[in-house]
Amino acid sequence: MRSAVSLENPHSRPAEDCLASLDACPRGLTSQEAARRLDLHGPNRLPEARPRGPVMRFLAQFHNVLIYVLIVAAVVTGVLEHWVDMGVILAVVLANAVIGFIQEGRAEAAMAAIRGMLAPHATVLRDGVRQTVDGAALVPGDIVLLEAGDKVPADLRLLGAHGLAAQEAILTGESVPVAKETGPVAPEAALGDRRSMLWSGTLVTSGTATGLVVATGRATEIGRIGKLLAGVETLTTPLVAQMDHFARWLSFLILIAAALLLFYGYFVGHRDFGEMFMVVVGVAVAAIPEGLPAVMTITLAVGVQAMARRNAIVRRLPAIEAIGSVSVICTDKTGTLTRNEMVVAAAETPEGAFAISGEGYAPEGRITPEGDLARLARAARLCNDAALALRDGMWLVEGDPMEGALLAFARKAADAAPGAVRHDVIPFDSRHRFMAVLTEEDGARLIHVKGAPERVLRMCKGIALDHWHARAEAMAHQGLRVLALAERPATGDAIDPRDLEGGLEFLGLVGLIDPPRPEAIAAVSDCLAAGIRVKMITGDHAGTAAAIAARIGLANPSRVLTGADLDRLDEAQLALEVVSVDVFARTSPEHKLRLVTALQASGLSVAMTGDGVNDAPALKRADAGIAMGRKGSEAAKEAADLVLADDNFASIAAAVREGRTVYDNLRKVISWTLPTNAGESLVVVLAVLAGLSLPVTAVQILWINLITAVTLGLALAFEPTEAGTMSRPPRRRDMPILTSGLVWHVVLVAFLFLAAVFGIFSYAIDRGYPLALAQTMAMNTLVVLEIFHLFFIRNIHGTSLTWAAVRGTRVVWIVVVAVTAAQLAVTYLPFLQRILGTEAVPIADGLLIIAMGAVFFALIEIEKQIRLGLTRSDSRRTA
Ligand code: ATP
Repeated sequence: MRSAVSLENPHSRPAEDCLASLDACPRGLTSQEAARRLDLHGPNRLPEARPRGPVMRFLAQFHNVLIYVLIVAAVVTGVLEHWVDMGVILAVVLANAVIGFIQEGRAEAAMAAIRGMLAPHATVLRDGVRQTVDGAALVPGDIVLLEAGDKVPADLRLLGAHGLAAQEAILTGESVPVAKETGPVAPEAALGDRRSMLWSGTLVTSGTATGLVVATGRATEIGRIGKLLAGVETLTTPLVAQMDHFARWLSFLILIAAALLLFYGYFVGHRDFGEMFMVVVGVAVAAIPEGLPAVMTITLAVGVQAMARRNAIVRRLPAIEAIGSVSVICTDKTGTLTRNEMVVAAAETPEGAFAISGEGYAPEGRITPEGDLARLARAARLCNDAALALRDGMWLVEGDPMEGALLAFARKAADAAPGAVRHDVIPFDSRHRFMAVLTEEDGARLIHVKGAPERVLRMCKGIALDHWHARAEAMAHQGLRVLALAERPATGDAIDPRDLEGGLEFLGLVGLIDPPRPEAIAAVSDCLAAGIRVKMITGDHAGTAAAIAARIGLANPSRVLTGADLDRLDEAQLALEVVSVDVFARTSPEHKLRLVTALQASGLSVAMTGDGVNDAPALKRADAGIAMGRKGSEAAKEAADLVLADDNFASIAAAVREGRTVYDNLRKVISWTLPTNAGESLVVVLAVLAGLSLPVTAVQILWINLITAVTLGLALAFEPTEAGTMSRPPRRRDMPILTSGLVWHVVLVAFLFLAAVFGIFSYAIDRGYPLALAQTMAMNTLVVLEIFHLFFIRNIHGTSLTWAAVRGTRVVWIVVVAVTAAQLAVTYLPFLQRILGTEAVPIADGLLIIAMGAVFFALIEIEKQIRLGLTRSDSRRTA
């Protein structure tokens, strides 16, 4: 029998002992052994919150004030023995629940799929090579490599740690990061004091670590306390929440109005109580927007999926609205605007300047003129955490692409790689901008440093500082990313930071090309057209940043503020500068937070990208925090609202477009539903108040509501992006739902509905048609108007009379055909005629009804064109 490997109290035992007990070694497991252990221990996953079962989900659809009102109405209708009406009301309730149920299921599936896209990865050593694997594939005995920003994928016994600290709040409640070391601790130490361990689910806040996996999945500490992964997020955004709230108030008002109407009809109009009651129920059901919440949720789900297709993964739903309203995007440079596929193209040493040819990470290329770059190359190789691997004929990097480029460069310079042993490291940090290592190779111990030239040159002795600064500057102005490399002999086992300052020997500069992404150039110009300012915030040199900014097409590439400049400005001065300056260089993550705050203080709505642990506060503060899916740390992803699967700026622009579309569609759903409901119910209310015969009966109004509310409204959830979406300026963040424009639209449409329905109705009565036929015509007029209204609403920002607008979407035509067929059935099929009290409408009158719809459409379209024309000339005047 295969035995499971396990280990008691790893924190109190020496690291070697733990390795031995788990049958592991510092080079990692073999892939076969890892596969065998995976079979044995199962995947490294925590149990997930169990989703609600289908029955509960279906029942939950009825838990809604609007539905309660309808159910009460159905019961009372039953008591009054109006069976048909009761049936129709129950059908409305059931149709809503079924559609809500199906769509919510799809929405939840979409969210679950998206969460799957964010599944964690881990860097491990297997078969002696560094590789990235699925977090779920880790097994006891694996050797895991971690750096600042990573989420710990399993419980680990530390084998190596440099400047390591972890935030363990989810496990211990302690939010201050705890320093970690490799030495054993007392067996009885509490969880938070076991400094030789890293716990699954916690975050590495600084330093680097190598750890041995001692427990996975449920066997980890976090698994044992039975903490569940985050449950299902409810599908809501500020607009949907506002609308829910509004809908509740609206229902309440409608009920009061309905009661008053009943009172009036019975006591003043002297109508029959039973009949009056049914009319009032019909009015209330027609007026209450019961389908709205479901349709809005579906709109969001459609948006989430559309964004995922464009590589923007939504982590928090409110971000869908926020990203559509941003007025400034602050973006990283490396990897977002540029490809992050680096190549060393130039080197300069005290001996002279060299050009290096070759593409990608292949170690093939020429150095001209020939010269001795051996020491520079060795420094580039040793002060390096990346690895190059040849797979399927392609050279690929494991780790930082810049370091991969340095490895390729070292090989081009014919630098051999005998077994070097690393004794100590000061990891790169964007605050101090260098990395240092102490290694032993061929019996010699050396410290190597690489980093930003300003930083490294200061550490060197005996060089012409001004000259080398000027040389670095010149390389940067060509758009190259510049690094300085230096070395010194070492004695001890550890790097003393004091040994670095002033004691190094300068080896040379290297310049790396990182070309802009062509699609980012196009996306920046799209953003500018959409009234969105794009700002670059980078840790790179000012010269490099300005050169890349110009190539990318930022609005104002020539003025650059550096981190040092920012430190000199107070909040008021910063607020003045921040709006016009587009390039910020040599910044640290702390500056990002200040910039977001300053931009927000100027009334702008800010999207901010980030990848490191220290970017988390700025991402949280931004209106839309965006993390990089590939090179981003887990810490940044957790703080972000959106994650870019491809790290590409173009995906941000695509997300803005989708965000605007979703918001437009939510508004379209509202703008279609409210006036339609108002129109339907006012027709009846007016007849009662004026003491006229009803143009549509109670059961007919219930019927209309049944077939149109969810179907026609639902079509709007699937509307594609309108043509001019990215040439409009961003909307105001604080825009209320009920803008004066929408209120006016409700009033106008309701009024036109009244005019059309009463017009057709009195025309029919005048021609001597029986009441039932007149009512059938009035009911069909209502439905025709709703369909025309739908086509109108599809284009709230442009003209509805284009070919694309008329052609519509598949969903629009499916619902229109379905509703039309249903109307034809109730109008012409005898058994339905008996139930709904309808009569066959003569063809000529049917055409008249459709013509009425066309006139209605023309009127509201003309009104819209006048309105859009006025706003356009208005904005021209203000501009
Ligand atoms: P962004 O991604 O925000 O555009 P960046 O990646 O250029 O910025 P940082 O990663 O903060 O910015 O790097 C800042 C500077 O630090 C670089 O210009 C380079 O000089 C130096 N640097 C970057 N990575 C390393 C590294 N691994 N080792 C040594 N120095 C580095």
